[in-house]
Amino acid sequence: MGISKTYKGTAVSEGYGIGKAVVIKEAELDYSGVKFSGADNECKRLDDAVNRYTGETKALIESLKKEAGEKNAEILEGHLVMLADPFMIGQMKENITSSSMTAEKAVAEVCGMFYTMFSSTDDELTRQRATDVNDIKNSLLKILLGIEEVDIARVPKGSVLIASDFTPSMTSKIDSQNVEAIIGEVGGVTSHSAIIARAMGIPCILGVKDADNVFTSGESLVVDAVKGVVIACPSEDEIKKYTELKEQEKQERLLLKEYINKPTVTKNGITKAVYANIAKAEDVHSAVVNGAEGIGLFRTEFLYMDRTEAPSEDEQFEAYSTVAKAMGGKEVIIRTLDVGGDKHIPYLQIEKEDNPFMGLRAIRYCLKNTELFKTQLRALLRAACFGNIKIMLPLVCTVDEVLRAKMLLGECKAELESKGVQFKKDIKLGIMVETPAAVFVSDELAAVTDFFSIGTNDLTGYTMAADRGNREVSYLYDSNNPAVLKAIETVIKNAKNAGIPVGMCGEAAADADMIPRLIKWGLDEFSVSSSAILKTRKIICEYE
Ligand code: PEP
Ligand code: MG
Repeated sequence: MGISKTYKGTAVSEGYGIGKAVVIKEAELDYSGVKFSGADNECKRLDDAVNRYTGETKALIESLKKEAGEKNAEILEGHLVMLADPFMIGQMKENITSSSMTAEKAVAEVCGMFYTMFSSTDDELTRQRATDVNDIKNSLLKILLGIEEVDIARVPKGSVLIASDFTPSMTSKIDSQNVEAIIGEVGGVTSHSAIIARAMGIPCILGVKDADNVFTSGESLVVDAVKGVVIACPSEDEIKKYTELKEQEKQERLLLKEYINKPTVTKNGITKAVYANIAKAEDVHSAVVNGAEGIGLFRTEFLYMDRTEAPSEDEQFEAYSTVAKAMGGKEVIIRTLDVGGDKHIPYLQIEKEDNPFMGLRAIRYCLKNTELFKTQLRALLRAACFGNIKIMLPLVCTVDEVLRAKMLLGECKAELESKGVQFKKDIKLGIMVETPAAVFVSDELAAVTDFFSIGTNDLTGYTMAADRGNREVSYLYDSNNPAVLKAIETVIKNAKNAGIPVGMCGEAAADADMIPRLIKWGLDEFSVSSSAILKTRKIICEYE
C-alpha cells in the first residue's frame, strides 16, 4: 500500500465514508484529431456506433419501464424513431463518401443541420426535437470516440462520487444505497448539491480544489465529512480508525431515534415544530420515518429537471397529492417553481444572464411565463383536496408580486370551477422571505400573505452580497452575521405583529448556534433536511 495523501475541503453533509473513487468528468467531444480512414471503414464505424447506441438504448428503455420511468423511456423511444429515419443515416453516409468526412464529423454535421432546423421553428414540440437530436449526436460521438461515461444512477456499492461541479440534476440521480460519500470542487454548505446530500444522509465535502483531477477512479478513499478531509490511499490504521468512527456515528444516530415521536417542546414548555425540506415526492418517506411534523419546503423545481418539457398538470397533481396523502393531514408547504440562479432547466429557455442570481428567477420567471405558472397552481389547487397543502412563493421582493400571483391563483380557481374540477377554494398562500427587500417591507407583506418562511440560504447571500458557492467570500456568507440576524429578527417580529405563522426553511434552521436565537424571537417552525430533524428536535427540547 502506498503513502496516504490528504485533501481539504468544506464538510457540507456530516458523516464518514470509506470506499472507491468514481470520478465523473464532463466528456470532451473533440474529434478534430480523428483521421479519415476511407469511406468504407468510416461507414462501418458509423453503422457499428448506431447499432451499439440502438441496442443500449433499447435495454435502457426496458429497465426504465420496469422502474416506472415511463416519461424518460418515451423520450428515448423518440430518439430511436428519429435515428431509424433512413434520411438521417443516409445523409451521414453521403457526407462520408462524397466529402471524405470522418464518421464523427458526419454525425456532427447532420445532427447540427437538424438541430438548426428544429430549433428555429415556432412550434414548441418541434423545438423539443432539437434537444433530442443533440442528445443523439452526443451519444454517437461518445461511442465513436470511445468515451465511457459514468452512469450516476448505477454506480457500484461503496462508491465515492467525485466531480468538479455536482449540478442539482446530477445529485438527484444518486442512489444513496450505493454511495458512501460525495466530493466536489464547486459549492458550499447551502449549494443545492449539499442540500440534496444532506437530505439523503450522504457525507459530502465540497470546495476540494481540482477534485476531478486529483483523484483517480478505483482508488481507495476515506472521507471525513466532519473535519472536511479526504484521505487517498489510506493506511490500515486510518481505515480502522474511520471504520470505528463510522460505527460510533451509527450508534449516535440510533440514540437520536428516541426523538422520532417526541413532541417538540422546550424545557420551559413552549411548543415548536420541526418540518422537513424535500426535493422529490419520494423524499416524503424519509421525512415521515424521521418524525417530520410537516413539510416546510417542497422544492418543486426538481420535478422540472432532467426532462425535455415541463411536467403536465396531471403529473404535478400526482406528485403533490402523493406527498399530501403521505403526510396524512399534516401541513405540506409547496414552493412554486424556483428556477434560475444555479437551477438551470434548459427547455425553459431562460436567456443567458450576466448575473443570474439577480435575474429572471423564481417568482419573476413565473409571473412572466403565466401559462407554466398557472399549470402548477391548478395542480396545487387540485392536490390540496387530498391533504393540508399550502402554496409558497419564492424570492418575493414586492407586495405587487404577491398580488399578481393571487390574481393568477384566482384565474386558476375560476378555470377549475368552470370545468367542474374539484379544488380547495381557501388554499393558504405564503411567501419565502429571502431578499432584503422582503425583509424591509415584511410588515406590508404580512398583511397580504398567510405565512412566512425565512429562506436564509438566499437571504444570507443577498444581505451579505456574497455568493453561497464562492469559496473566496465564504467568510462573509454567514447566517449568524449580525446583519442577517437583524433581518431574521425583524421578519419574525413583523409576522408576530400581524398574527401570521413564521418558519424557517433555509439551512440555518438546523444550526445549533442559530436555534436558541430563533426560539427566543418566537419562530414557530423549523424546516430542515430529513437527516437533521432529530438533532434539531433534540436541541429545541433541551432549550430552557
Ligand atoms: C433559501 O434560500 O433559504 C431556500 C430555502 O431556498 P433555496 O435554497 O432552494 O434557494
Ligand atoms: Mg432560496
